[in-house]
Amino acid sequence: MQSHFFRIAVLGGDGIGPEVAASALQVLDAVGEKLTGVTLVYNEFPAGAGEFLKNGNPLPASTLEACRSADATLLGAMGLPDVRWPGGTEMAPQLDLREELDLFAGIRPIHLYNAAHTPLKGYQEGGIDLVIFRENTEGLFATRKNTWLKDAGEVSDRLVVTRRGAERIVRAAFQEARRRRKFVTLVDKANVLPSMAFFRMVFDHVAAEFPDVSAERIYVDAAALYLVQKPERFDVMVMENLFGDILSDLAAGIVGGMGMAPSADIGEKHGVFQPSHGSAPGIAGQGVANPIATILSAAMMLDWLPGAETTRGAHMIRRAVQQVCCSSANRTADLGGALTTRQMTERILEAL
Ligand code: ATP
Repeated sequence: MQSHFFRIAVLGGDGIGPEVAASALQVLDAVGEKLTGVTLVYNEFPAGAGEFLKNGNPLPASTLEACRSADATLLGAMGLPDVRWPGGTEMAPQLDLREELDLFAGIRPIHLYNAAHTPLKGYQEGGIDLVIFRENTEGLFATRKNTWLKDAGEVSDRLVVTRRGAERIVRAAFQEARRRRKFVTLVDKANVLPSMAFFRMVFDHVAAEFPDVSAERIYVDAAALYLVQKPERFDVMVMENLFGDILSDLAAGIVGGMGMAPSADIGEKHGVFQPSHGSAPGIAGQGVANPIATILSAAMMLDWLPGAETTRGAHMIRRAVQQVCCSSANRTADLGGALTTRQMTERILEAL
């Protein structure tokens, strides 16, 4: 059998980031031992608001270079509410990383692991299962680095949709739909915004390349409504950057919250894997954060790395999470239980 040696850059970051990243590494270690011919080597690098306070740069050049040369990056969470740029926005090196490494696809799977996790009535395990494809490099985040003057009479942000940017995220969504239930929903605001009418036109062109996949187009306001009323109708959803930011939190809310929402930021060459959540400073340092989102992000990393063995490892992690979540006794505080981060991690390790 072919042997694979993978170098993983680990960026713990801020708040609960290092705590949940440590859990994911424990799980990866345990899985790595069971895989044939796979070696995972981790190297940790500094980044985040805390790093800015220490050394004046939230994403040091050496960290960026390490992510560029690694086979994949595992990230905890970054940003702290009180550490801001002079313009008032938070430090967000995870966004810089997406732009620098051209990680255009923000992939956010939403899966209900236990009926008790959802505030919605009548859904069983697996009854909610969709994936959001968030465009990560343009949209309404495109001019996020603009500065503004305190005495300005007006400040505006630009929503940028390029043909290339729209095509590649839509194509990625259709490709994923082929591996799933073959149904893609475009979420836009094409009835109001010209940039979105353009996005929809590009979507229609790409949809024609995938005659075996059904396609629908809905407005973002309706998407928010349906995600709460009938989330089972969705398979793959694709959308602009800010819409994806908002709707992926909403979608996480119907399967237990941010602690259950993994994500992968993927480009042509690089992949960064991190939970959808932020640094949750309110619970940082208490050892109570739910590590499942990060553990499932590590599974997405194994899926993305080449080779059948890593794919097997990804399945093993998801099966272990599923098995642990079957029991309503296995819940961290965000899910209404009392398990600590360490206890939840141990349950998952036992299930492995
Ligand atoms: P960002 O803008 O950086 O994504 P955010 O402002 O959306 O961050 P989060 O840090 O994601 O905020 O936290 C949102 C809520 O979810 C908070 O109440 C936080 O405590 C909770 N939360 C986030 N992640 C977890 C986790 N892993 N376990 C438990 N609770 C979490």
